[in-house]
Amino acid sequence: MKNIPVVMIIFGGSGDLAHRKLYPALFNLYEQGLIHDNFAVIGTARRPWSHEYLREQVSDAVHETHSEVNENDLATFASHFYYQSHDVTNVEHYETLKNLAQELDDRYSAQGNRIFYMAMAPRFFGQIAQHINDQHLTSTGFNRIVVEKPFGRDLTSAEELNKQITASFDEDDIFRIDHYLGKEMIQNILPLRLTNPLIKNVWNNSTIKNIQVTLAEHLGVEARGGYYEASGALRDMVQNHIFQIITLLAMPEPKDLSSKSIHAAKQKLLDSLIIPNEAEIAKHFVRGQYLGSDVTFGYRQEPNVAEDSNTETFVAGEVKFGKGPLAGMPIYFRTGKEMREKKNRIDIVLKHMSNQYGQAHSNNITIIIDPDMQIYITINGKKINTPGIRRENLAYQFTKEEQGKVPDGYERLLHDVFVNDSTNFTHWSELKNYWKFIDVIEEAWQKDNENGQEPEQYLPYRMGPKAANDIFDSPTERWIYD
Ligand code: NAD
Repeated sequence: MKNIPVVMIIFGGSGDLAHRKLYPALFNLYEQGLIHDNFAVIGTARRPWSHEYLREQVSDAVHETHSEVNENDLATFASHFYYQSHDVTNVEHYETLKNLAQELDDRYSAQGNRIFYMAMAPRFFGQIAQHINDQHLTSTGFNRIVVEKPFGRDLTSAEELNKQITASFDEDDIFRIDHYLGKEMIQNILPLRLTNPLIKNVWNNSTIKNIQVTLAEHLGVEARGGYYEASGALRDMVQNHIFQIITLLAMPEPKDLSSKSIHAAKQKLLDSLIIPNEAEIAKHFVRGQYLGSDVTFGYRQEPNVAEDSNTETFVAGEVKFGKGPLAGMPIYFRTGKEMREKKNRIDIVLKHMSNQYGQAHSNNITIIIDPDMQIYITINGKKINTPGIRRENLAYQFTKEEQGKVPDGYERLLHDVFVNDSTNFTHWSELKNYWKFIDVIEEAWQKDNENGQEPEQYLPYRMGPKAANDIFDSPTERWIYD
């Protein structure tokens, strides 16, 4: 790997994301030589930490995520980290930060290359981008900005944020990160679709009946009730992760695998995204909220959650496109907290064909994203000693050793930022379409709230509200994973 000179500034350097994800991912890139001698990382936050204390934190973060660590390498790696106490709302602090960045650029011969990483609460994103611009923090080499989720809370606020960021960064230098796009099995969707004639030939709306995307979490909101109240499952999971997955499943084949061609194919699909009307929302969308049990709080009893909150902790719905291989075909999704188990999966449900063996037999393709990674096809054959059809799974899977080698999504995506590959990042034009869709659902639910209609309640650690079983286009459809 080529050593990329850079000074990286992390806003939110004392936060959870930096500790659990960014520092370990940077260490792995360091071990592979992508960043080596010519890099420095400035961690910023308001606390009065020293460089030494940040280095200890970085070192702890690496130990917590690695079973084996080369201590010499880690010590050298950590020595490239610097801490700057910085309040992002204080303009004067940007001057100090700029001076430190310049000093480190000289010391490490970073060639004027900068990466700004916004690992902070989203309400600060616009302000930071604006101050980077006003206070001239960009330099003479490349200047890239990584923006965490959520990018806005509706189309209007996303447009406003985009305006603030594009004042100092070109679209090509804005990396709107969605860590799902860095996941191994999500990156397997296109190869699965494009390299297997067996699958490529059935990837159309006359053979596939529907697709079902499930992102189920086992945990509740835990200590993040305050954040979640302002977000809810639709904004937190659907606007980004679920839509990105659906786009990869439904997009037309790209001309080639360049970032430009992939985004062009995605855009072609998204231009045909069908925005549901009120009646369709009422029929095909369900929001839910988890109840408590003897030992757990219900959502409304969680800390920092309003007693009469209508924020949804579960959502199920349907997406359709007017164009592409799956035009007009329903793609169902659901995501929720306090579900039976953590499981992220995609079920591609093929239409039943009448056959000489009597009843219809399922022949589906399933992609398990987390926690294990595999793809399997349900295949029908004959039972050995009795009449009838036997169903087995034909699986594409990884050995334990291979699973251990799969890089974390953040490592992959940070690598892509360094090498300027935006294939697996969200472009503004895509995001705009996602928000248009989300906004109409939010508006419909707002009306429901005004009419006293609350989210469906569901028992914890099951599969969400019963009403989610009634969102299908036809009564012959059901959740494959239940
Ligand atoms: P966090 O609350 O743990 O960290 C926030 C950081 O911002 C802290 O370092 C805090 O000190 C700093 N901060 C707050 N106010 C400040 C101010 N005025 N000036 C300077 N620094 C200030 O949050 P997090 O969980 O690390 O999340 C950061 C971002 O990453 C969010 O956008 C979140 O949605 C996104 N994200 C986080 C995770 C995760 O696993 N934590 C996963 C995906 C996305």
